[in-house]
Amino acid sequence: MATGIQLGFVSKPERPFLPDIDDFPSKIGGKPVWLNPEFPLDVESVRCGICNKPMVLLLQIYAPEDVPAEAYHRCVYLFCCKNGKCHKESQEKSFKVYRSQLPKVNKYYPEQLPLPAGQYPKVAPLCKVSGYLGSKQCSKCKSENYSCKDCQIYHWNNAYHKRICCNDNEKETLILKQLEIKTLEDYLFPEYELVSEEEPPSNVLKENEKFDISKFTNDCEDTEVDVDKAFLKFEKRIAREPSQILRYARLHYNQEDSEPLWVCQDNKPTEIKNCPYCGSKCTFEFQIMPQLLNYLNIDDKNVDSLDWGTVAVYTCNANCQPKDKHYMEGFTYHQYFSNDGLNKRFKAIDIKQKIESGELTKEEIEKIMKLKKDAVKSD
Ligand SMILES: [Zn+2]
Ligand SMILES: [Zn+2]
Ligand SMILES: [Zn+2]
Ligand SMILES: [Zn+2]
Repeated sequence: MATGIQLGFVSKPERPFLPDIDDFPSKIGGKPVWLNPEFPLDVESVRCGICNKPMVLLLQIYAPEDVPAEAYHRCVYLFCCKNGKCHKESQEKSFKVYRSQLPKVNKYYPEQLPLPAGQYPKVAPLCKVSGYLGSKQCSKCKSENYSCKDCQIYHWNNAYHKRICCNDNEKETLILKQLEIKTLEDYLFPEYELVSEEEPPSNVLKENEKFDISKFTNDCEDTEVDVDKAFLKFEKRIAREPSQILRYARLHYNQEDSEPLWVCQDNKPTEIKNCPYCGSKCTFEFQIMPQLLNYLNIDDKNVDSLDWGTVAVYTCNANCQPKDKHYMEGFTYHQYFSNDGLNKRFKAIDIKQKIESGELTKEEIEKIMKLKKDAVKSD
């Protein structure tokens, strides 16, 4: 039986991400593509609760809904601080989630084009660095917009604007612009397309995935070690598609609420907050998996690098649309694996890909499997 759960996978982008309403992007990293071009999110809504720096886009999902009509187009944006230290202190304060919605008939994506002159809606300027609303400008050249001082300073000092700004030397500017592009990319998470596929049923493990995480977890069950049941369930479940980075499981309206796949028994949220706008229940919409960490250019050797077990996103079950509000906040709930450091080792589950690409030797694979096993035992 199909599970009805959509799994998300990372894919190399084959085209630029544009606000095309017939094919609105779902993606990892890069700058946000705003559903509402007139009202991009303001940076003040996404400051980290620990370091106060602007968070960056982790991913955005186009997830339209039938009810109410105002949610005909609907995007969910998930942001986080790039500093792993902040996550260690409080993951709750290091993530933010917002949804943005538009009805089918709206002024931004008119059905008839071109519009008569003067009828095009306003498009807001965007920050050169972060992609949030760019209400500030470089006071010298007036040709770059910024969301805040943090981004302006980054552009000036790190991304070569100090040398590009008002520079008449065309040849030099051309070279510097190349360096600028690279440095601006480094400010964000690497950009990928997010593609989805329905989760396969339990008995259909794909042929090439039979080398075998599920066998490994069975091994664990045979040992006399008391292993967290939730962890085993988690590992077994994702073995159906080991490279999944996201699970989307929104159930609707009259159906029973869906549950995230928790990574351990402890620290499950006991109470889910209600929607701050309409008071409806917030329900589970999707969760990100530890495998996503593999794609974020994280320095694994750094003890303070970004890390998580899973992050579950809850949004208003009614898809409410308060008047004159462009971004409605949702909630995230977090779990590390109960054993510190296991998150990274857990990523070894991605070895299937690495084996296929010939990246790992047999010895290395065995070593990783042993590490995983020890990690579970010491739990
Ligand atoms: Zn922070
Ligand atoms: Zn900015
Ligand atoms: Zn300038
Ligand atoms: Zn609501």
